[in-house]
Amino acid sequence: MDYLLTEEQKMIKDLAHKIAEEKIRPVAAKYDKTEEFPWDVLKVIGESDLFGLFIPEEYGGMGVSVTNLCLATEELSRACGGIAVCYAASALGTFPIVLFGNDAQKRKYLPDLAKGKKIAAFGLTEPEAGSDASAIKTTARKEGSHYILNGTKHFITNGGEAEIYTVIAMTDKTRGARGASAFILEKGMKGFTFGKKEDKLGIRASTTMELIFNDCKVPAENLLSKEGMGFIVTMKTFDMSRPGVAAQALGIAQGALELAVKYSRQRVQFGKAISSFQGIQWMLADMATELEAARALVYACAREVDAGVKDVARDSAMAKLFASDVAFKICDQALQIHGGYGYMKDYPIEKYLRDAKITQIYEGTNQIQRNIIGLQLIKDLAK
Ligand SMILES: Cc1cc2nc3c(=O)[nH]c(=O)nc-3n(C[C@H](O)[C@H](O)[C@H](O)COP(=O)(O)OP(=O)(O)OC[C@H]3O[C@@H](n4cnc5c(N)ncnc54)[C@H](O)[C@@H]3O)c2cc1C
Repeated sequence: MDYLLTEEQKMIKDLAHKIAEEKIRPVAAKYDKTEEFPWDVLKVIGESDLFGLFIPEEYGGMGVSVTNLCLATEELSRACGGIAVCYAASALGTFPIVLFGNDAQKRKYLPDLAKGKKIAAFGLTEPEAGSDASAIKTTARKEGSHYILNGTKHFITNGGEAEIYTVIAMTDKTRGARGASAFILEKGMKGFTFGKKEDKLGIRASTTMELIFNDCKVPAENLLSKEGMGFIVTMKTFDMSRPGVAAQALGIAQGALELAVKYSRQRVQFGKAISSFQGIQWMLADMATELEAARALVYACAREVDAGVKDVARDSAMAKLFASDVAFKICDQALQIHGGYGYMKDYPIEKYLRDAKITQIYEGTNQIQRNIIGLQLIKDLAK
């Protein structure tokens, strides 16, 4: 389908496509196996200015565009969902600074992030606070010119590898969700260490790690916005980043579909390529149609965010929910088309299924996305 992309958007898509084919596809299986962090690929992405797509021009970026970020993330994910998320998670960690940082904070942190010299991470989730983010226990106590952070974050993408962390902590436990605040932390700050590195089903090139704060001293000027704004920062960040997760899902699904078509033309059974069976053609037709429907929703949502439309939470949740459910289904069917060979690690398709699964879980599970959509629907209809 022709989405009538601008010349600039086509250029970004082509550039990301080239990086994916030349630099990512050849090493995807290696990083999936070793779980090393793909710094060599991130260096190439940095040199090509793709980290600038979520950073304003006045701070060294190319201008904030969720559409451009989605186009790049989708193309990178076609070759490897794990490597692509190392890139996209830096946007997640950077958005709080872009959206709520003051000029000094932006000047200090954004130029290096725009060039990919440093990458970012976002720390919200804790062992006992996943879907219920309001249950976070990490505290930030003001002491003179500093905040003292104590607590543990877990499952943090880019943990240990990122230099910059945007972290949500409670500054006033008595105020519930209104008592949370957002902070910018730097790797190496006293009292900030890393714990367990997770051994995962998929996106294995991406590091998922625990962040540990033990009387970690954070300068007061690293508070983002005001005390009590932590969950607003989080929600507004997710509104911008969820289309990116959806784009990751689109890319993984597109990659899986292409592998399925290719395999179906090569595999001969009953004396014919399996692509000649209508049962296989119908599967491929449904996969392609659902993928295009998901893509239309994701691009429409990204354009809405870029146009500054208010209250995009519902649409952002819809894009993430639909694209990730469709992606998991497409990867499952693509593996089915590979038959028993698809179940083996000799073929790349099993990795796509493993990588797709996470898009239904992180940045809010798809049950939580349905809660957001349902509540908004009821609210709107009650007007
Ligand atoms: C690989 C990976 C990377 C991640 N990266 C980050 C990151 O960079 N930063 C970060 O802060 N977090 C990150 N996360 C955390 C992620 O966002 C959480 O795992 C997710 O929000 C779910 O929380 P949970 O795992 O505690 O599951 P739980 O909240 O315990 O949920 C368990 C199940 O219950 C369901 N459930 C819970 N509440 C409801 C409800 N009200 N209605 C219906 N169903 C419900 C859930 O949908 C799920 O199926 C990452 C997680 C993973 C696995």
